[in-house]
Amino acid sequence: MISFEIDMTTVLIFLFFGNLVTAGLLAIYSGESISHHAHRQFLAGKLLQSISWLLLAMRGKIPDVLSAHVGNSLLLAGFALEALALISVEKPRKQWETYYAIVVAVFIFVFWGFARQPNEYVYISSTFAAVIFLSVTTFFLRDSKKSTLRYSLSVIYTVSCLILLVRSMNAFLHADYKLMSSEFSQNLTFISTYFLMIISGSSFLLLQRERTDELLRVVNQELDQLAHIDGLTSLANRRKFSENLTYGILESRRRVEPLALIMADIDFFKKYNDHYGHIYGDRCLVQVAQELKRHCQRGTDLIARYGGEEFAIVLINTDITEACRIAEAIRKGVHDLTIPHAGSDVSDCVTLSLGVFSAIPDSDEHDYDWYIIESDRRLYDAKRAGRNQCVCA
Ligand code: GH3
Ligand code: MG
Ligand code: MG
Repeated sequence: MISFEIDMTTVLIFLFFGNLVTAGLLAIYSGESISHHAHRQFLAGKLLQSISWLLLAMRGKIPDVLSAHVGNSLLLAGFALEALALISVEKPRKQWETYYAIVVAVFIFVFWGFARQPNEYVYISSTFAAVIFLSVTTFFLRDSKKSTLRYSLSVIYTVSCLILLVRSMNAFLHADYKLMSSEFSQNLTFISTYFLMIISGSSFLLLQRERTDELLRVVNQELDQLAHIDGLTSLANRRKFSENLTYGILESRRRVEPLALIMADIDFFKKYNDHYGHIYGDRCLVQVAQELKRHCQRGTDLIARYGGEEFAIVLINTDITEACRIAEAIRKGVHDLTIPHAGSDVSDCVTLSLGVFSAIPDSDEHDYDWYIIESDRRLYDAKRAGRNQCVCA
């Protein structure tokens, strides 16, 4: 058995200063985020603990009601607030607030009503503190969010809880047990409480950091989406199209597979706008975009708004026969939407012209520009040939 002696008053004074300094540093660091609920709870918890450690350190020099009763009540409230702050980093936890309020209220009732002997002070306060520590473990283990930090905190709080229970048991079994007794479980409790004070402060900041990192990840994902999506049709935008076609060409060259590009353009769309107005023009673009999506459902298909009323579809591992079949299905699908188009010279409803190109890009000349030029040429062949048709060769 390891045996060591520590002076209780020194440890209690260290706990007083430690909590006070932690609270002070956190207040300075947090600045504006002091308005955050968890920050306020953590600061209040640290301040209450600081005051209570000072009261406990003055045991014998001030009345017991101050040192033991007020001291232990503030300490337990401080532990509860700290635990609440740790589990409330993401959002306020109303149910847990109620739970901690009940635990503190029951403690005050039991302690003020029944604790008479110093050993009773010790085992009642240790047991309630253990209950609070255990709640942190329970929360992190039950919470859907998992991380190494959370597992580590669960382990630390479980160990602290067990040490407190051993101390509580010793105090229960020994009537002469006091706050200032230098005994193994007592020494261990105060040393672990001291370490927990340091660990909880940094863990609180780390949990907040974990939360900020996660929010940043989500915001970055959203920004990335926004940078690649067309605002009107929700199709990929020109930037995404360029990235995808460039990558597709390189991959198809490596795999020796055909890559198809379809360029589609709404016929007489200027006249559509002139006749129905831009709002209806926009709605028409959205409807056509949805129809395109319906025909290109492979995970690797990319449908983009190339510009204005022009769309581009990149189909990997698709030969000209298959690309033409898809293009024709799209042309027919858009026609069958029967969106009235009074200004069209080719039909009484909205139609598409499509240029289809597919090849294995097996040389350096077969690049991005080559695909655009070849499919664009076929699109304008379709326009010249009378619109509302696909040209594949
Ligand atoms: P063509 O059959 O030869 O393709 O004739 P067109 O009228 O469709 O082609 P043109 O390039 O002359 O006109 C394209 C029109 O598309 C012009 C513009 O008013 C319209 N347009 C482009 N972008 C948008 C948009 O975001 N919303 C709306 N409502 N109209 C758009
Ligand atoms: Mg057009
Ligand atoms: Mg056009």
